[in-house]
Amino acid sequence: MINLNYIDDYYQKYKNLCETGLYSKYFAYKNIDTLYYSILDENDKTGSYWNDSNKKQYQSKLIECLTSFIEIDKLEEYCQFGCYADIFIKEYLNKNIKNQLIIDNKLYLELLSLYNEANLKTTPVKYGYEYIINDLSGLFILKLVSQKGKDQIKKITNSFINDVLECEVCNKKYKAIKFPKWLFYRVNGNIGVCYSCSQPIFSREQVLDSIRNIIQIVGFIPNSGFQNFPDNSFSIRVNNDNWISVYKEILNLSPNFSGIDYIKNEFGSWFQALVYAGVLDKGQIITKRGIKCLSKSGNICNSISEQYIDNLFFENNFKYQKEPHYPIDIEFNPKGLMRADWKIGNVYVEYFGLKGEINYDIKMAKKMRLCKKMNIELIAIFPDDLKNMSKILNNIKSISF
Ligand SMILES: [Zn+2]
Repeated sequence: MINLNYIDDYYQKYKNLCETGLYSKYFAYKNIDTLYYSILDENDKTGSYWNDSNKKQYQSKLIECLTSFIEIDKLEEYCQFGCYADIFIKEYLNKNIKNQLIIDNKLYLELLSLYNEANLKTTPVKYGYEYIINDLSGLFILKLVSQKGKDQIKKITNSFINDVLECEVCNKKYKAIKFPKWLFYRVNGNIGVCYSCSQPIFSREQVLDSIRNIIQIVGFIPNSGFQNFPDNSFSIRVNNDNWISVYKEILNLSPNFSGIDYIKNEFGSWFQALVYAGVLDKGQIITKRGIKCLSKSGNICNSISEQYIDNLFFENNFKYQKEPHYPIDIEFNPKGLMRADWKIGNVYVEYFGLKGEINYDIKMAKKMRLCKKMNIELIAIFPDDLKNMSKILNNIKSISF
């Protein structure tokens, strides 16, 4: 059970600090709760962080990046999440701009040097992706709340603060404002249930039943760990109308949201639970390095997500190659051993499923830089993209044929 009581105290404390003006502009800006602050404080003190003259150049370069690299409309959509919009915005920017910065090292170094100047760093920061993304999201949120998004965010936030909701599963009363940001993000803004419903202990057979039901409702096989809502790559793929029935089944998987351990103890692994539930297609095998499965084309894939993508390529009649080598390059691929996941025409396609893990990120950056240097078209697919692949498929069609 997730204890949400502390959120009340935290929120009250935060509100008091804002009202008494004890929050310094710097701290308020740095705090993840920029939005709470901006909404509660009509004077918008967060804005003054950017009014220092030494920040002007840095700021205008950041705005340039924002307008050239992202879909502003997409970010404005996040206003529907009220005061929780910032975490969605930050994750979106992290995903979209960080890649651009990794590819375009010149731009990254320029931003980093402006960052160091703007913050009067006597010892310049050398590895600053996180700082830059933080500043970008802060700046974007600031623009949003000072312009058209403000009223909507305010209205929704007020309903989060004031409306007493009743959990559709356990009938407990709660307010949406009590959800911690991480939880709100991971459940993709679904606030119809309290997320602290008590969880019954079910028999093995009932657990397997629930696994089958979940897969039937959502229409795909979730990766292990989805039971704890570890990120929103699962929830973003679930249709909002189905959320509550999926949630009810997830509750059945284990007591206390300790889904992974329970399934591990009971079945050995998530994969084995899937085998016992009889939901896997033929041809899937377990290896020391994880799941291997056959896609419809007969290609061996290293994960269920990879299999899903491969099947889409197959169904769309793409002529493609699995695990092609990248061209040799003295700097990035001296022995020519580096491989992509797919090659369609002249386009290389990668599924970057483990993003965020440092060694993986370095490997990913290397591939991106190699492609940039050699003018190779690279299409990178991330877990979030799996929800709606039509854009990526169209993109591949338009450049590879
Ligand atoms: Zn409940």
